[in-house]
Amino acid sequence: MRNGIQVVTTSPDETRIVGACLAPTLLPGDVISLSGDLGAGKTVFVQGLATALGVESGVTSPTFTIVHEYEGRYPIIHMDVYRLDSFQEVLDLGFEELLDPQAVLLVEWGEAVTPLFPRSYLSIEIRQAADDDHRLLVFRPRGPQWLSKLEGMKETAEALLDAASLESTDAPRFVDAPPEGPRDHAAMDHDVEEG
Ligand code: ADP
Ligand code: MG
Repeated sequence: MRNGIQVVTTSPDETRIVGACLAPTLLPGDVISLSGDLGAGKTVFVQGLATALGVESGVTSPTFTIVHEYEGRYPIIHMDVYRLDSFQEVLDLGFEELLDPQAVLLVEWGEAVTPLFPRSYLSIEIRQAADDDHRLLVFRPRGPQWLSKLEGMKETAEALLDAASLESTDAPRFVDAPPEGPRDHAAMDHDVEEG
């Protein structure tokens, strides 16, 4: 668990279930970064999470609008910084106010802006290996409080994924994540000098 945990989901609904299982552990002020290519499932994950926090209106991608706000158990701020090119653009958007201690902040493409994040946040990376519905969700705690939140999520999600699954497996779905490679910390393209 030191490096985090990971799980493979086999459908959008399974990804929503995992998102929903993270929701009860969240508190106002929590910040989550979601990374992964276009179509990986970042927004799908947020849909499950937001629904479990009581958001009734449909959660859609903020790729073009950049910021969506929902009222659930807590205010939820859902951003997508994909279309922003620099830290300055993110700051100009009022990012510091969006780091609201009363709200849960979810940032798609968040790995690009982690220098602007608080010290403690959760990193979620979603990878699509092949051209199918399998996704690898990697959860990396940045800060000790996220370790226990991830334990909570894992326990509920194991049970709910089992209940929702047609095939029964005895093997745990969540496993420890491998250590991170140096390239896992991507900065904004424009801020990286390619050598
Ligand atoms: P992103 O926000 O990362 O760009 P979206 O969440 O908008 O991606 O889209 C993910 C797409 O992949 C959706 O069309 C969804 O139906 C599909 N999909 C297929 N399998 C999965 C899975 N296991 N988890 C999440 N999404 C999946
Ligand atoms: Mg998205």
